[in-house]
Amino acid sequence: MKRKIIMAMLLCFTFSVVVGCAEKREEAQNLLNKYADANLHEMTTFAMDTVMLFTLYHEDGEEILTDAEQEIRRLESLFSVTIEDSEISKLNAHSGLDSVKLSGDTEEVLKRGKEIGELTNQAFDIAISPVVKAWGFTTDGEKHVPTQETLENLLPLTSIEDLVIDENASMAKLTKKGMAVDLGGIAKGYASDKIASLLKEKGVTSGLFSLGGNIGAIGTKPNGENWNVAIENPLNANDYVGLLSIQDCFVITSGGYQRYFEENGKRYHHIIDSNTGYPADKGLLSVTIISKDGAKADGLSTALFVMGLDQAVQLWRSSNDFEAVFITEDGRVIATEGAASFFSFEGRDNDFKYEIVKRRGGVQ
Ligand code: ADP
Ligand code: MG
Repeated sequence: MKRKIIMAMLLCFTFSVVVGCAEKREEAQNLLNKYADANLHEMTTFAMDTVMLFTLYHEDGEEILTDAEQEIRRLESLFSVTIEDSEISKLNAHSGLDSVKLSGDTEEVLKRGKEIGELTNQAFDIAISPVVKAWGFTTDGEKHVPTQETLENLLPLTSIEDLVIDENASMAKLTKKGMAVDLGGIAKGYASDKIASLLKEKGVTSGLFSLGGNIGAIGTKPNGENWNVAIENPLNANDYVGLLSIQDCFVITSGGYQRYFEENGKRYHHIIDSNTGYPADKGLLSVTIISKDGAKADGLSTALFVMGLDQAVQLWRSSNDFEAVFITEDGRVIATEGAASFFSFEGRDNDFKYEIVKRRGGVQ
């Protein structure tokens, strides 16, 4: 590895001596690209109920990708509610009965889930599962609008305070019978953190991965340029509203436009407001979070979607560890001040208007 880099540098140096300035730069760049391409490794896999794509540049890329896939499967076997003996399935099966033992990652993801719940006044609620299931969103069965009575019976089972974690014993308990945890809003973000750490530990300095649209960027492109990540147009899957130019962070979007069903001409999506038991309906089409913390980006993308623009902006103003891009039902694309510095809006054929929201003051 080292030898190859030195060789590439030496060749660049030789080029810089023998060729003219512009040409020289181009030649050197081509050479670096060639070197980078030789180390390009890609993988597509299906896990956590979604498609996952990995691209990385490293001479041991094949082995590293195998390790990454194993890590994803390990986390899935702990967190999945469709795998019967996963730790989360056991926690749910013992609701109202007794505590279950947790391994390090399950304890950590539950703690992160509770913490984001507290930060967002329970807009993010990993105990929302009984309600999500009543809508039919986690099962293969028919999706339908539950009766008001069903929702009223289930909502008291969705408080994250009733998920009790005993850190000393590494155990957790759901105190009420019928409670259940669903990590659908955080598991992929948490997995992104773990995968990014794994790749970096193995020496990867350039890579990009997508866990079902949850993007993780390692370093920059091999040529030192930033990665470009598009923010999808929620009204048209073949279009995007702009590009984020990023390095070394996570970009995670939540919206009501990907998983939904229709009943009596009305659309119902899979992100539930625990105040009402109904799909969140606060005027947003999507929320994209950019952060160095993958679990937080995932949890917040869901939470801010539930909260709506005004509350979401308030939370952003009192935080310093994430930026956001909101797309509203009334046709606005709104970037937080920090995000605006690396987001390029593209109106093109869509009719969105672009605005920037400042740390202090209003929307511009
Ligand atoms: P996706 O996983 O589809 O990319 P999200 O990260 O927004 O989207 O997570 C949505 C999933 O999280 C739902 O499918 C459901 O399992 C769960 N969920 C729904 N509403 C909430 C909520 N208010 N808080 C936490 N999780 C939720
Ligand atoms: Mg999320």
